[in-house]
Amino acid sequence: MITRLKRSRQMIRLVRPMELTSSDLIYPVFIREDGKRFEIPSMKGQMYYSLKSCSDVCSKVVNLGIPAVMIFGLIKKKNVDGSVALRKNGFHIEIFRKLKKEFGDDLVLISNVCLCDFTLSGSCVYMEKGKVLNEKTAKMLGKIAVVHAEAGADVVAPAAMADGQVRHMRSALDEAGFEDVSIMSYIKTDSCLFHPFFKAVSSSKTPRKGVDSSKFRTDIINRKMFMAKVDLDISEGVDIIIVKPALTNLDLILLTKQRYPNIPIAAYQVSGEYVMIKAPSENGYLDENALLMESLNSIKRAGADMILTYHGLEAAKLLKKEF
Ligand SMILES: [Zn+2]
Repeated sequence: MITRLKRSRQMIRLVRPMELTSSDLIYPVFIREDGKRFEIPSMKGQMYYSLKSCSDVCSKVVNLGIPAVMIFGLIKKKNVDGSVALRKNGFHIEIFRKLKKEFGDDLVLISNVCLCDFTLSGSCVYMEKGKVLNEKTAKMLGKIAVVHAEAGADVVAPAAMADGQVRHMRSALDEAGFEDVSIMSYIKTDSCLFHPFFKAVSSSKTPRKGVDSSKFRTDIINRKMFMAKVDLDISEGVDIIIVKPALTNLDLILLTKQRYPNIPIAAYQVSGEYVMIKAPSENGYLDENALLMESLNSIKRAGADMILTYHGLEAAKLLKKEF
């Protein structure tokens, strides 16, 4: 009789095989070089921070028991080939130096490493005549990873989906003496759920116009293609896999967990999922907190060991209230 196991709230808690905690969460933080601090229009409730004010939100993260932040640096001047990423004393260097100095080992600093942060086109990869230049992209990502590691990043997260990106990053980091810096690679299905994020990180009214993301993300319908990318990144020495988005890829989280039970898996509850949780509550259709906890628990149940979520601060507060 299953009802016996549901006799009381504490009985229900007791028999749970897993429990979401604040230590499962990673909070993404957007930091602007122009120093402006305001609410992100495409992601209401989330803020852009300045170099100065990012310490405040990181303190909140630490105080809520969240172990890590994913840093997105929004630079003032991008260039065609993204080589500004390698400039001395660039904005990302300032961010990591500052946060490492202030928080030390109390906060894991994860750096999002992608060409779109630095290229005028907003493309995540180098392309020529419609073809992705994997090696050229991967080599550049390796160089950027070293710059961020030198400045204090604990983990680098290649986001370009280029074949060979983990291999190049690992060897570049090792050669530079950063054997202890982990690589956490994104594996993304081609999804409309990234759109509010691209609106947030692009100054253009039509973000990433002309960028064909189907060339570098995996086909949402094709799980074999997704798993082939997982296999490739693991063969290249990745430490942690990020499945992105989470909601539409719960089966892929489970598949990855089953195939690689010893590799930590992160799931990214992306910007589109964030607004999908926010919007119905604004109209009174659904309870935001209940929907948030249900979705996070379903992601964890699918096999995620950690979850990147824009609802990180709210989720950690709710988890504190749980008795
Ligand atoms: Zn990118």
